[in-house]
Amino acid sequence: MRAAQLQASGLEGLRVGDIARPVPGSGEVLIAVEAVSLNQLDLNVIAGLGPGRAARLPRVLGLDPAGIIVELGEGVDARRLGQAVVVKPNIPCGDCARCAMGHEADCPAQSVLGVHRDGGAAEFVVVPSRNAFDRHDLDAATASATVHSLPIVINAFDAAAVTAADRVLVTGAGGTLGHAAVAYARHLGASVVAASRAELPRLDGVEQIVAPDAARLAGRLADLDAFDVAIDVSGHGGTIAAGVAALGWGGRAVFCSASVDARLELDARDLYLKRKQLRGVASADYEHVRRALRHVQNGTIAPIIGSRHPLDDIVGAYRGFGASPRGKVVIDVV
Ligand SMILES: [Zn+2]
Repeated sequence: MRAAQLQASGLEGLRVGDIARPVPGSGEVLIAVEAVSLNQLDLNVIAGLGPGRAARLPRVLGLDPAGIIVELGEGVDARRLGQAVVVKPNIPCGDCARCAMGHEADCPAQSVLGVHRDGGAAEFVVVPSRNAFDRHDLDAATASATVHSLPIVINAFDAAAVTAADRVLVTGAGGTLGHAAVAYARHLGASVVAASRAELPRLDGVEQIVAPDAARLAGRLADLDAFDVAIDVSGHGGTIAAGVAALGWGGRAVFCSASVDARLELDARDLYLKRKQLRGVASADYEHVRRALRHVQNGTIAPIIGSRHPLDDIVGAYRGFGASPRGKVVIDVV
């Protein structure tokens, strides 16, 4: 089968070629992949940095493939054959106390598709059947663009218990996660301020702040009323700190990424005296994935697809990743 396999660190080590088709083991399914998206984590895997260091090479990339189930491993419900599915990248262990409670996001023994095992930037991928979600009538590109970002955002908003009465700050609003966070805050009826480094398209009911760096963001936020909730998807320590500082009494901050600048400096006295909270959300529960797919199916939230590339052009797609226009970069495998 054709696959984008990282054979050595660096983009020059990524090759599209023929490798053996994987075989589904017990409880697993084989998926004929139609589409998969590019993610920031792939760049870490390619560079061998941060969370990407966990990948053993050679490794097929691709976190979030969507396709059709074409073969079942032992013990998988026969009715799943032929089902159109999309794969949640984080694979929980299924055995621990958190998994038993349905808190798969917090499973301490989870692995990630395309990092710890071969991913879906290939004609076929094998995953545990429980991680392959029925995508109903969603097309493969839309389902792939949904399955990783929106569930994490929903988890973050749940963690901060956001309601329509809340004033919410979203920092890093320019990216895929940021778009999902602003869309979900609007869906909840909260009042939203979206902060980004570059100007965004105007959205009804969304106040915008453009600040090229954390210091200027902090300056702009100091002029505004305090926030009840700060959701950061930028992963930048300075930006997370600016969000926490902008919270009012009992404010809740959640950050969904810590990959850019991991250092975080907070005013501990302010955090303590104003009863603020700060939480990291790095994954999603199965229930968040089902909710995210439902929101996209019924049109409440629409992911933005930025550009599409054939599998053979995946190296070029990574090269332009980041500089490409707003929205998810999708690889069409077939
Ligand atoms: Zn577990």
